[in-house]
Amino acid sequence: MEKKKIVIANWKMKLNVKDSLELAQKYAETITEIADKEVAVCPSEIVLTEIKNIIKDSPVKLGAQNVFWEDAGSYTGEISASMLQEVGCEYAIIGHSERRENLLENYEMIHQKIKAILDHSQIIPVLCVGESLKDKELEKQDYVIIEQLQQSFSGVKLLPNQQVIVAYEPIWAIGTGQVIKPQDAENMHEIIIAALVDLFGVDIVKNQFRIIYGGSVNNKNAKDFKALDNIDGFLVGGASLKAEEFLEIIKAL
Ligand code: PEP
Repeated sequence: MEKKKIVIANWKMKLNVKDSLELAQKYAETITEIADKEVAVCPSEIVLTEIKNIIKDSPVKLGAQNVFWEDAGSYTGEISASMLQEVGCEYAIIGHSERRENLLENYEMIHQKIKAILDHSQIIPVLCVGESLKDKELEKQDYVIIEQLQQSFSGVKLLPNQQVIVAYEPIWAIGTGQVIKPQDAENMHEIIIAALVDLFGVDIVKNQFRIIYGGSVNNKNAKDFKALDNIDGFLVGGASLKAEEFLEIIKAL
């Protein structure tokens, strides 16, 4: 597989319907020539279908912020991987720290969600991992990340055509303006790669995984990550809410 760098926008629940559609329109007009990279936007579920329509002729692809772990059934309020695929999603964020904290998503749920995506769709899972400030102060971040990867991927088998993205998102850097030192991100990405190699073997990791960084990336600091070997892209929250700034980040990588 050709491993293009990828930049993913996570709009969270920051925009209402009208503003989401307007921003999608701006993306479609602004983000036009990015042949060497992949770009995706993950808006609220309520606007997925309309946004797919707005971006259909642009290089921007569609992603979801969440998915459920069963494919159909009596699960009020949930949306399955195959439903996301039906509306054109090509990516789905799993296990964002905001969901781990606010909705008490645990390892087992996250594990089941990854399996559901891989078993029932062609969507690329974007698994978020990251340590808290406390973990960092106790210098436990390596242990915490390895544990998150082992629990999420235990028993998961990838077919040769399946891809996975791991987003390293230190919780203390998300939405705080406190970006990680690029070299520290590179070091953590090396630890992530080593843990994935233990789980999947060298070839699968090399060919089927991308490791991206998320946490207060903006148009000023994005270029600092460009030269690093193990940073395959970004997951961007706040700075993705302006099309021009998001484009600058894409170009800077
Ligand atoms: C995120 O929520 O995934 C994120 C990276 O947010 P921000 O860029 O705002 O820190």
